[in-house]
Amino acid sequence: MILPIVKYGHPVLRQKGAKIESLTPEIKKLIADMFETMEDRHGVGLAAQQVGHAIQLTVIDVRAVTDRPSWLEINGRPVDVAENMPLVLINPEVTAVGEPVKGGEGCLSFPEIFAEISRPESVDVRALDAKGRPIEFRCGGLLARAVQHETDHLHGLLFIDRMDKKTKAELQPELDYLQAETKAELKKK
Ligand code: ZN
Repeated sequence: MILPIVKYGHPVLRQKGAKIESLTPEIKKLIADMFETMEDRHGVGLAAQQVGHAIQLTVIDVRAVTDRPSWLEINGRPVDVAENMPLVLINPEVTAVGEPVKGGEGCLSFPEIFAEISRPESVDVRALDAKGRPIEFRCGGLLARAVQHETDHLHGLLFIDRMDKKTKAELQPELDYLQAETKAELKKK
């Protein structure tokens, strides 16, 4: 089922996600629905907050992006990125490894808003997968950017919080407009 995506201005986007203690049928259904929603919107990642749930769950798939490289290592060995997609990360813990690099980012909760964001080039990730099994990996490039963007969502952080002042100031009118539009829609309900 394709779920409606929550836009900037909705309070759930600022909520820290609760840890997932068990993979209930509801969580499994949510994971399937989040994949369907992400594919429908051509996103590379989607966090539970973006479909209205403040929990530690995100889905990622970078396969559709061919012009921005990603790399992945499991147990210190390089592995094929595509073969390990899509990713479900439950209760992820992310540690920065590489130096900060700039790269373009968008967000399904901020339609038509794009900006250059500085983030560490690579990260170490510990999480549970879709079956609740512990996973650990190191990744870089676009995949590391997606992991960081989505993990931020799980903590109520948004990519606008990572923009430099000048970029954010330039986008402020669009951001204010989007926020007001979302709030007006919420009031109607
Ligand atoms: Zn986002």
